[in-house]
Amino acid sequence: MCGIIGCIGYENPTNILLDALKRLEYRGYDSAGIALKNEKEIQIIKSLGKISDLEKKISEKMIINCSLGIGHTRWATHGEPSEINAHPHRVGKITLVHNGIIENASFLKEKLEKKGVLFQSNTDTEVIAALINDYYKGNMEEALQKTIKDIKGSYALAIINDDEADKLYALRCESPLILGVSDGEFFVTSDMGAIISKTNKYVLLGENEIVTLTRNGFSITKDGKKVERSVEVSELSDVDASLCGYEHYMMKEIMEEPVLVHNLIQKYKDNMDLLPDLDQYDMIHIVGCGSAYYAGMIGKNFFEEDGKRVEIDVASEYRYRNVIYDNNTLVILISQSGETADTIAAMRKAIKNKVDTLAIVNVDDSTIARECKYKILTEAGREVAVATTKAFLLQVLILSFLSYKINPDKDYLKDLKKLSQNLKVLLDKSGFYKKLADAIYHQEDVFFIGRRVDYAISLEGSLKLKEVSYIHSDAYQAGELKHGTISLIQKGTVVFAIVTDQATKDKTISNLEEVISRGAVPIYVGTDDCSYENKIIIPKINTKLQPILVVPALQMIAYYVAYKRGCNIDKPKNLAKSVTVE
Ligand code: GLU
Repeated sequence: MCGIIGCIGYENPTNILLDALKRLEYRGYDSAGIALKNEKEIQIIKSLGKISDLEKKISEKMIINCSLGIGHTRWATHGEPSEINAHPHRVGKITLVHNGIIENASFLKEKLEKKGVLFQSNTDTEVIAALINDYYKGNMEEALQKTIKDIKGSYALAIINDDEADKLYALRCESPLILGVSDGEFFVTSDMGAIISKTNKYVLLGENEIVTLTRNGFSITKDGKKVERSVEVSELSDVDASLCGYEHYMMKEIMEEPVLVHNLIQKYKDNMDLLPDLDQYDMIHIVGCGSAYYAGMIGKNFFEEDGKRVEIDVASEYRYRNVIYDNNTLVILISQSGETADTIAAMRKAIKNKVDTLAIVNVDDSTIARECKYKILTEAGREVAVATTKAFLLQVLILSFLSYKINPDKDYLKDLKKLSQNLKVLLDKSGFYKKLADAIYHQEDVFFIGRRVDYAISLEGSLKLKEVSYIHSDAYQAGELKHGTISLIQKGTVVFAIVTDQATKDKTISNLEEVISRGAVPIYVGTDDCSYENKIIIPKINTKLQPILVVPALQMIAYYVAYKRGCNIDKPKNLAKSVTVE
């Protein structure tokens, strides 16, 4: 999901920029570009497509002699992927690259157009360049301070000014950006992994602090006052650069979700016939453990809406139950590793009973992938964090594909196109989730409530929180609370209400009011705006895709709560990635 590199030193930075951009490739992008600057001129080279395309273009040009440059991989949010919309963007004396989203871009653009600015691209980024240029009257810091006051949204910026061939400016808000320090060479990047071959020394940047880099050093200011910051040493080695600057795999893997969702959609959107047709079965059984079981519960909601009979069970129960099989039953086995012992046993039971089996797994060649009649791979890549995030989301996406095949609906295909973009926008708000986590991390009990699909989402949100933060948490069907659990609600108990299901939303809100009147602190997670103070508003999308926009928000909260509690996020105690024992 896009990346930034900036470099100032003594050497020509072209190769450093290209190397960093290649290391940022894993995040996904649609275009890339660099800008190089010396005393006399600025050279901008951009390309749609891969870094190798950009590299080729660069190799065909006479590169200017310089020691300052910025580079970018773009994942379009405003304006289609194209060379014009690719970064860097240049307006007047200002050239910059940007990660993030400017929420009030159209308002600012209109104002600037009235002042005579002619925009070349459809991006929100060009508006920032124009704004800085408009404010720049010889003092960059002043111009940046004024710009910060005007722009709303998330941004990491690396900025060059025509008047200063020996300075690189950078700042951030909500989007990641760090400063890399080496001998006579300084960097800014969105990912430590991008520069780890050059240095392991870095400086963290606070929100809206303005950094000025020269080849001799750096300075940081906030609101015009100097900020002192120490240089840290990263533990990251080139070997585990696969963390790509993230502190934990869990966060890295959450951040990969938009790209992976996008890739899987590209693979299947015009090729749904690659997937088995569930309509040929009279009965569907879904079996899994932990999060895979909850993904299955979301799938059950989809299939029942399509008019199918569905049973669901956790594998450790299913394997020992007296399951009644109809001849025409399909058993769907969901497992990230494809080696979950209970799920393997459930699969073998189904095979023994001569019913068809379908594997939804992440690991090809795994036992479940090999032995089932059909297999669909989630293609999440390796998932290192023990608590699943990206693989779960792709399991749900595949279940929604299968549901679409049973009951094709044009709106679904339309919404599929905007899914990964919407997801990226949600994930870009890390600062927001961090703040919500502040309200939760000291709690002893947290409840989640929801009805129908929102109940399945609640279960996964609750599991994620307890897995990584060790806070006790439970999920309840919203209507079930008053049959017992409501007695546990006391002043200050946090209750998440998941409210996306249109058919039951008013009922769930009433249940939320019941707990509020008993002292609960509500956190509303829904598609319609509301007057609750703590709320996560999720863009409305086709019902078969909606959970894919809700669960990542809950994953982010679980991560930040665990972070604040100092937990071992990637390896929670007592948990294993692949449960190969009963
Ligand atoms: N919003 C900017 C654009 O659409 C930046 C996207 C990014 O983070 O790559 O160009």
